[in-house]
Formats: sequence, C-alpha cells, structure tokens
Amino acid sequence: IVIINIHKIQELYIGRIHQAMVTSLNEDNESVTVEWIENGDTKGKEIDLESIFALNPDVAPEEETAPSPETPPPPTPTSVKVNKIPKVSPVLVVFSFVTAFPVPFACVFCSSVAARRKSNCVKEVEKLQEKRERRRIQQQELREKKAQEVDTTVPNYEILYMIRDFRASLDYRPLSTADLIEEHRICVCVRKRPLNKKELTIRDLDVITIPSKDVVMVHEPKQKVDLTRYLENQTFRFDYAFDDSTTNEMVYRFTARPLVETIFERGMATCFAYGQTGSGKTHTMGGDFSGKNQDCSKGIYALAARDVFVMLKKPCYRKLDLQVYATFFEIYSGKVFDLLNGKAKLRVLEDGKQQVQVVGLHERDVKCTEDVLKLIEVGNSCRTSGQTSANAHSSRSHAVFQIILRRKGKMHGKFSLIDLAGNERGADTSSADRQTRLEGAEINKSLLALKECIRALGRNKPHTPFRASKLTQVLRDSFIGENSRTCMIATISPGMTSCENTLNTLRYANRVKELTVDPNQVIEGVRPNTHVVDQLDDDWDHLGSSPQRDDLKLLCEQNLEEVSPQLLTFHEAVSQMVEMEEQVLEDHRAVFQESIRWLEDEKVLLEMTEEVDYDVDSYATQLEQILDQKIDILTELRDKVKSFRSSLQEEEQASKQINPKRPRALL
Ligand code: ADP
Ligand code: MG
Repeated sequence: IVIINIHKIQELYIGRIHQAMVTSLNEDNESVTVEWIENGDTKGKEIDLESIFALNPDVAPEEETAPSPETPPPPTPTSVKVNKIPKVSPVLVVFSFVTAFPVPFACVFCSSVAARRKSNCVKEVEKLQEKRERRRIQQQELREKKAQEVDTTVPNYEILYMIRDFRASLDYRPLSTADLIEEHRICVCVRKRPLNKKELTIRDLDVITIPSKDVVMVHEPKQKVDLTRYLENQTFRFDYAFDDSTTNEMVYRFTARPLVETIFERGMATCFAYGQTGSGKTHTMGGDFSGKNQDCSKGIYALAARDVFVMLKKPCYRKLDLQVYATFFEIYSGKVFDLLNGKAKLRVLEDGKQQVQVVGLHERDVKCTEDVLKLIEVGNSCRTSGQTSANAHSSRSHAVFQIILRRKGKMHGKFSLIDLAGNERGADTSSADRQTRLEGAEINKSLLALKECIRALGRNKPHTPFRASKLTQVLRDSFIGENSRTCMIATISPGMTSCENTLNTLRYANRVKELTVDPNQVIEGVRPNTHVVDQLDDDWDHLGSSPQRDDLKLLCEQNLEEVSPQLLTFHEAVSQMVEMEEQVLEDHRAVFQESIRWLEDEKVLLEMTEEVDYDVDSYATQLEQILDQKIDILTELRDKVKSFRSSLQEEEQASKQINPKRPRALL
C-alpha cells in the first residue's frame, strides 16, 4: 500500500505533484501499475520496477540499491522525494511514502511471498479506494446539505448554528403528565412561550432551551475582544420548567391545581404570573386573548374555578356548606380599582389588628364555572377599556382575581391569582415623565416586596415588609399563617432580543426560591446568586418613622444589592409625595364643601343689609367671623399645597440622582 508521487516530465517544470498508488505488481514484466486522480479522473500507468528502484533506492532490494552519486538522501520520516529523471522512462516516478508503509511495501517488492501477498495488497488498496470515494461522496453531500441549511441571510446565523449544535448534544427529558406533582409550600417555575409572529418576522433567534422538567438554559450571545462571537450558556433550576409546547392545562396541573385543596382546608393560596410584558402572563392566567376569539376558559383563573366547583361536590367538603365568591381588581400606581364595578377607585384600610380591608370591593356570588367566566370577561373588558392595546395598560398594573370560600359569611379560604405588571416597568423610575416614574416606583417596590414576602413565607420570618407596597399590603393575609401556599410562574420570551429581560426574570425567580443546580445535569456552570449583607449604609438613617416607611426601609435592607441609597431616597420621596397628594385632595374637597356653605351664609348676610334697619354691628361681626374662618382654612390649605409642591420637586430631584444601572439590576 504505497502512495507514489508521479511527476509527468512536462509537468515537472510547472511543479505539479500527483499522488498515486501501487495497485498491482506485474511479475511477468517486472513492473507495477500505479493509479492517481487527476482533474477528477482516475489515471493509471505501468511503470517498470527498475525505474522505481532507481528513483527510490531506499525501497529497492538491498543488493540493487548501492548508493550512487546520483541517489538522493535517505527518507525523512514523512516522505521521500527523488527528483532524478531516468533516461529509460518517459515518466518520472517519485515515491513519497508514509513511514507507516515500508513494511507492506517491503512485502510487495522484497519478500519471496510477494505473489501471495499481492492479491491481499490489491484488495486492500481497492477497499481503501472505495472507502475514500464513499467518504468523498458523503462529504460532498453533507457540504451540499449544510450549504442548503446554513441560511446566511438569518441575522446572527453563527449564533443560530452554535445553539443548534449545543442542543444536538443534549439529552431531552421534558416534563410529562406521568411526572409526580410535588407538594410545595412555595413553588417556583418557568414557562417559555413560542416565538411570536413579530419575532418570526424579524427572524429573532430562540435562545432558550428547556432540556428537562426543571432546567432552563439561556444561550446568551457574547463577543470576544477580537470580535469572535460565542455563547454563554447559563443554567437555572426551578421546581418545574415548561417548554414552549406546554399547554395551559399542563402548566395549571403542576402549579395552581395543587393549591385548590389548600383553600378547602382553611388555607390561603396565591399564584403569580411574573415576567416581562409580552412573555405570556395574561395568556397563562387569563387565557388566550390573541385574535378575535378570546377564550378565557383555558386560563388558570377559569381552570382553578372549575376545580373549586368540582371539589365543592366532594362529600367531605359538601357538608361544610361553603359559598363561593369572586373578586377582580387592579392595582395601578399604588391605587386599587374594582374591575367588577366600573373601575371604581377603592381605599385600602388597615385596622389596629393589622387586618387589611379593601373598602367597598365587590364580592360576586358565583355558582358555577360559567358564572366565573362571565366575571372574567366583564373584568377584562373593564380593565382594558379605552386602551389602544391590552398590553399598554396591563404592563403597568397588577390584576388580582380571587376565589373566596365563605362558611356562614366567615372566610374559610381564599385563592388569589395575580397577573403582575411587566417587570421591565420597574426600571422606569428614572423616566423624565412623572406619571411613568411613579408607576415604575410602585412596580419596583411591589415586586421587591413580593419577593421578600414569599421568601418570608418559606422561612416563617417574624417581620415582613408588607406595607412597602399596595400589592403586598392587600395580599398580606395570604402570606401569613401555617396554611398558606404560593406558586410563582415566571414567564419568559424565547427571543434573543429579550435575552436581558429574560435573565432578569430568571434571576428574580431564582431568588424567590434558591434551588441549586445539579452539577451532573449542567453543562455550563451557573452564576451563584448569593449575596452577603454586611451592614446597613449610614445613608439609610435619615428616614423618618411610620409603618410604611419602616417597611420600605426593611425592604431596602433586604435588597442592598439592588437598591442603592439614591433609589431608597427616591422611594421615600415618592411615598411622601403620594401621602401629601392624598391629604391635599382630601382637604381641598372639604374646603370646597365649606365654600358652598360660606356662599350661602354670605348670601343671607348680604340680603340682610338690604333691609332698611339692618343690624350693622351684627353684620360686621358675622362677616369678620366668616372671613377669619375662610382665611384660616385657606391658609392651611395653601401651606399644604406649598409643601406638596416642594415634595413634587423633591421627588423630581431624587429621581435624577438614581443611578440608571441600579434599577435594572433590581429585576
Ligand atoms: P403578557 O401578559 O405577559 O404581557 P401575553 O399573555 O399578552 O403577555 O402574551 C403576548 C402574546 O403572546 C399574546 O399574543 C399571546 O397570545 C402570545 N402567547 C403568550 N404565551 C403563549 C403560549 N404559551 N403559546 C402561544 N402563544 C402565547
Ligand atoms: Mg398581560
């Protein structure tokens, strides 16, 4: 098995080298047949042994290879090249053999059993040739196939192929209905939605992989200094991970369904959909609202209601004689609006026993799933009425749907299902527009407070910053008590364009319940999310004391890494401003009512002066009294407005001090 380089004489001068193989040994005329491929064609030639040995004395039988002045140097480990042109041959043959071959060569040419070995050798060469040819065809096909597959018009196609290769190496074991439904006091899971039309139009890449029932991987495209691109694969683990083919029914089965029983057992349950706007929160909780055919029967609100009525019929619960009620409200910028009562603005009050009440919230009596579906429809249309897009509004508000069980009017259990505001809105605290800033501040605070409340639930912590936000204040009773359970569904968009928000969502969800990643399952390491709190910055100490501010302070202490002192100052300024706004409005309303009375009194007084003999003393005294009163009251209101205005300025100043990077990291 010998590779021979053949130079044709005429080609020698242009330096072309062909590789050729000995395909047979012709003993009768003492020659060998060699073959090589030239321009795709197989060419062959018979060359006499003498020429070959003359050119390649190192492979010639010993007695015939006495070195002459013309013989070349001995072979190097890799090849031998002999550049002599023998007069006898029209062809210059140069052996260039690989060191692995001298033995078979020697067998062919030098051994007495050459004839017997010949056929083996030829067969071997033929086999090799065949193999090589097959490989060549295969490679060609592969190249053609790849060329068809590699669509270089896809933006970031290198990243796409890196992700494909990565996925090809994974062992997929997705969640199935056969998987065990575990009992968790706190359950945190992630749901990936499919790429949507918009993402498909811009040919966004899917950078999320869910290889197993509890692992989520993010393939984050990165660039080295030399501009070569690579993937940073980050892995997170949760109680469950739902891939983009998972149905609402399946998500429900592992998340909210196990909580239905809790409320029958006198417990409190909460289920949150958390994530960026457009990631699938409303789709998960409310149902599919895309297109014309809105179907809320497949949302978790409706699925939970269905099972509540199923449970109610069970003998053990039927005897309890429970009534089912539903409420549906929205929390927007720290204010509560009733979605089952024309979006009436409601007040939240807390009594001495820390019992929180949403005053005047409509609780509707529901007898069956259809009743609930109707309420969801009413609430949804009320929620988005007057909005150009459902997401424009819902991205800034939390929607709370509750199923309440009462026994003889007394609360037995409550299931709160919450479609949270888009978490990316929490970063709006440094917006130039005040309204946007206030919305952002409330979302920022409420999502931080929510995380702390859930964490506290798992650790039975003594004090939790419920009052730091309206959301957590309203849900307070659901987070306390032995029999409270919660579930968070973090929804994520698959696209590369959402990568940063997706990572923020996953980090947040991960902090709600810190599950570690099994190193055997993980291909790339996970970033540890632990942070150490040493001591509180002195900056915090300027805070005054009120239940709300204490909770805000506590919340910030618990989140030193995410909340800068400047952000705290801002939150502080916002809550002061909101408190003042409420006072000014309340006082203004009172003054307005009082003014009507003043007008009536003054009218009577003036009418009195039209009498010929009216009492001047009495008139003067009464007018002075009215004016004194007016001046006192108006001065007080004016002072309040002044302070309110300065608090507006303080809020604006504080918002400018916020390091724009900090609030992003928060989520
Ligand atoms: P969010 O409430 O988080 O802002 P939506 O629930 O409104 O997001 O979802 C945005 C869009 O994506 C909607 O058109 C919705 O129908 C679609 N969508 C979300 N999740 C899924 C899913 N799991 N399967 C199919 N489409 C989905
Ligand atoms: Mg939504």
